[in-house]
Amino acid sequence: MSLETAVERRSLPLEFPFGIARGTTTETEVLFVRIDADDGPTGLGAAAPATHYGETADTVAAVLPDLLAVVEDVGDPHQLERIERRMRDTVRRNPAARTAVSIALHDLVAKRLEVPLYRYWGLDPDDAPATSYTIGLDDLETMREKTETAVDRGYDTLKVKLGTDRDLEIVRTIRSVAPDVRLFVDANEAWTPREAVAKIDRLAEFDLMFVEQPVPAEDPEGLRFVFERSALPIAADESCITLADIPRIADRCDIANLKLMKCGGLREARRMISAARAHGLDVMCGCMTESNASIAAACHLAPLLDYADLDGSLLLADDPADGVPMPDGRIDLGGLERPGTGAVLESAGD
Ligand SMILES: [Mg+2]
Repeated sequence: MSLETAVERRSLPLEFPFGIARGTTTETEVLFVRIDADDGPTGLGAAAPATHYGETADTVAAVLPDLLAVVEDVGDPHQLERIERRMRDTVRRNPAARTAVSIALHDLVAKRLEVPLYRYWGLDPDDAPATSYTIGLDDLETMREKTETAVDRGYDTLKVKLGTDRDLEIVRTIRSVAPDVRLFVDANEAWTPREAVAKIDRLAEFDLMFVEQPVPAEDPEGLRFVFERSALPIAADESCITLADIPRIADRCDIANLKLMKCGGLREARRMISAARAHGLDVMCGCMTESNASIAAACHLAPLLDYADLDGSLLLADDPADGVPMPDGRIDLGGLERPGTGAVLESAGD
């Protein structure tokens, strides 16, 4: 068969400014990728590049032609393993760009087989945990209002961004308006190891599930220091990028937080899940602020996860792509009536 590919770049405004310890964003740049087989359906994927991992919309746009040339050269979209390996050999880094193509191919292959992606993988949709919804950093009053809005929308699991000099006040405020939600916090590398241990001691009284990335990824010994003394479980995010990181973090955290935009593809993500399990870690899949065109693919991994943090599309003001239904944050794979990832881009025409 012959494959045709197309790329479309869009800037998507967020519903609220999204603050984390490193800064605040108000929009996200997404590159939609379509792979069209002349004898059937179109696969849809998307890249949501993160500058923290060295990518921008420009770098993604720059390498996509080389990646799509690999796809066209292999010619058979079902050769997912070969294509992902050759893409990794072609552009070593650029994980969001490779992920966009990986998603589009998995979508295309599952559509050709006329099954949702989770069925192609042999997973039970009822095993998917609910997604958390993230409350970004802001002034206390705004964070309180956002929390009330999230509870009103039915989310029962909230993630709160920390990494400030008022972290305890923030969590106390959130707990005061959301006493019953499952709650965890993400410091995004902002604490020193000793500060982290002391803060976590205080935070433990607020019934938190775990603490994400307390210290910088560049300080693996610091992560171990915190893990060995922490009153709460520890999740690794910035310290957990690709498969090779799993053995490195295994003795210094409880939970591996993988993301498609960090690891470079759905097959790499599945290998990370297997490796994390082999090392006795719990597994979480997170995301960037991104469209359903990529979030939908991550949702199909959800039956393999302990924790899903897949609110990327929920944080957008208006996502041009539809995806897996998420009523009240429940990842309703069973309610998906379309094959593939279920992602549909408006005006996509397929
Ligand atoms: Mg994080």
